[in-house]
Amino acid sequence: MPASAKSVPPEKTTSPPVAAPAAPGAGLSAVQRALRKLGLVRDIDFALYLPMRYEDETRIVRLADTRDGDMAQVEGVVTECEVVFRPRRQLIATIDDGSDTCQLRFFNFYPSQQKQLAVGAHVRVRGEVRGGFVGRQMMHPTVKAAGTALPQALTPVYSTIAGLPQPVLRREVRSGLARAVLDETIPVQIGWRGAWDLRSSLSFLHYPTPDVAMATLEDHSHPAWQRIKAEELLAQQLSQFQARLERAAQRAPMLPSSAEPEASSLHAQLLAVLPFGLTGAQQRVGEEITRDLRREVPMHRLLQGDVGSGKTVVAALAAARCIDAGFQCALMAPTEILAAQHFGKLVGWLDPLLAERGLRVAWLTGSQKKKERDAMSAAVESGEAALVIGTHAVISEKVRFRNLALAIIDEQHRFGVAQRLALRGKAVGHLEPHLLMMSATPIPRTLAMSYYADLDVSTLDELPPGRTPIVTRLVADHRRDEVIARIQAQLGQGRQVYWVCPLIEESEAVDLRNATETRDELADALGAAVNVGLLHSRMPTAEKQAVMAAFTANEIQVLVSTTVIEVGVDVPNASLMVIEHAERFGLSQLHQLRGRVGRGAAASACVLLYAPGDSGRVGEAARARLKAMAETGDGFEIARRDLEIRGPGEFLGARQSGAPLLRFADLTTDVMLLDWARELAPLMLDKHPDLAQRHIDRWLGTKAEYLKA
Ligand code: ADP
Ligand code: MG
Repeated sequence: MPASAKSVPPEKTTSPPVAAPAAPGAGLSAVQRALRKLGLVRDIDFALYLPMRYEDETRIVRLADTRDGDMAQVEGVVTECEVVFRPRRQLIATIDDGSDTCQLRFFNFYPSQQKQLAVGAHVRVRGEVRGGFVGRQMMHPTVKAAGTALPQALTPVYSTIAGLPQPVLRREVRSGLARAVLDETIPVQIGWRGAWDLRSSLSFLHYPTPDVAMATLEDHSHPAWQRIKAEELLAQQLSQFQARLERAAQRAPMLPSSAEPEASSLHAQLLAVLPFGLTGAQQRVGEEITRDLRREVPMHRLLQGDVGSGKTVVAALAAARCIDAGFQCALMAPTEILAAQHFGKLVGWLDPLLAERGLRVAWLTGSQKKKERDAMSAAVESGEAALVIGTHAVISEKVRFRNLALAIIDEQHRFGVAQRLALRGKAVGHLEPHLLMMSATPIPRTLAMSYYADLDVSTLDELPPGRTPIVTRLVADHRRDEVIARIQAQLGQGRQVYWVCPLIEESEAVDLRNATETRDELADALGAAVNVGLLHSRMPTAEKQAVMAAFTANEIQVLVSTTVIEVGVDVPNASLMVIEHAERFGLSQLHQLRGRVGRGAAASACVLLYAPGDSGRVGEAARARLKAMAETGDGFEIARRDLEIRGPGEFLGARQSGAPLLRFADLTTDVMLLDWARELAPLMLDKHPDLAQRHIDRWLGTKAEYLKA
């Protein structure tokens, strides 16, 4: 390990002026509050708070050698200094370092600075050199007395927030780093082969020696960075493998079933009434789930499949297994519309079969009338409701299950961790329910490996047969007439059409007005024979459901809506989807919306109407999204591109994963480190559980609990 990396250099003598604290106590707590906001509480938090860039204050350069745009540190004599009013009050000084002169300008300054820049004073000045034709200039440079010892290391610059000036943060990090206990947690025998240990890596990355190749710090490829990223990934993997171990210790009801279910089972009867045969993928995934349900360890499985891949049937079959074993199953969807669709479908399939058994499907949502809701709750409590479908209301405190054994969450990314936890709390006695989460947003492999390491993943990688690919067209907004013609052509063939208006989040009233205007415009253009309906998030649920029902029954031919139809809605006769202001939608959202068509055998199309912004152009990211939509219909490819455009932070959202995002490692470049961590984590938990725990605590602190949810 390089000797220079071992010690933290001494505190620098001076720093730029800091706003004086109002009162000692108040000032202190404001800083502490700001630190807390950055997650800086324990010494180790400070030590792990690494700079985003550095300043080189280790060298003095000659003014004559500087070029326009250089960050430069020079020393010289002040030859002029005055306050002028041209047009604003400003302090202008000139320094001469023997090679050339440079003008310093300050619009905001303290009297102390003015004194520091008295004519004849020797000063050390650092700033960006501007080389206009009137000579060199620096705006708001930092100024110190000349001649003090130069630091040996680069000066760190940390990401900070209002109320926390850089010098203060720098001081706090320095002392946190000095105090932090940085003994090794990665066991030498099985651990890291690189030369850099944690302490040397952190010391170096906070205060690198000036001879370092700056690019290796910036792109995190320096060996010290490798070590830190490895540590971070290891912490993430450890906590997930640990969650897995904890779950392995939990118990769930075993839902026994024979591989060949008896003909009288609900499962077999459901298969018999389905109007189609299962795809190979549905069968395979069904078996994976059945295997899990037979075990006494709670299932924790993510079922991912592109829109339209047929997840609902898989869920229904899993529910049937559960009911066959004499237990209850809950199915939750994020919106009432979606829950209602599931309900409609599953009631159609299952209710007649359940009725023969004296059982039924119950329906629970927030908007329900109290009387109906009480009746449903009673059916859930008695166990008569073998299957409970609804929104969050299903997990409300008041609902008590007789023997819940399987919980299915549709569109899991829209549920928070807390809700998943609440669902688990609905178990009977000490038994946890099995958990099946469904998502139409496929998770790229590296993300799945890192963020969902404690989940088992099943993938429906095959669409039901007879689908024709959806043709996607990008159309500029001023060519709306062509779109109307397309709509008429579809209607002429007895097909139906979705028209989606964007949600402009600032104002629902504006959204509603836009959607209403569009509805009127379409109704005008299409004539009286065509029914144009409107669905808006503001509408009361009953009204929404009535509109959806009318659309499903083809009483409404064109449905104008804001994004409430975003997920899961299923009307196979709809063959054209028009998305207005498509440039405003996210990529997965567009893909999900598009998936509402192409559900029947008819050729389907999606028209993305886009409007160039004020600049006359569509932004770069928006263009990349539209391009991806036009080029591919494959959900995995879409997800990959979405990840590329947005980065993992936004792609996952802390809400979806429940896992803290990686601060340093980058899954697109650090796959080898991820593999290393994945290999080491189970080994370490097994052979060195104490070290593993220390490592998790060090890196994740209080976040570790959250991660397990
Ligand atoms: P998603 O995975 O998007 O939730 P759905 O479960 O809503 O997809 O299924 C989409 C459509 O495909 C539904 O109309 C459903 O009935 C139909 N479907 C599902 N499985 C099959 C199959 N094996 N063969 C034919 N159609 C199917
Ligand atoms: Mg669905």
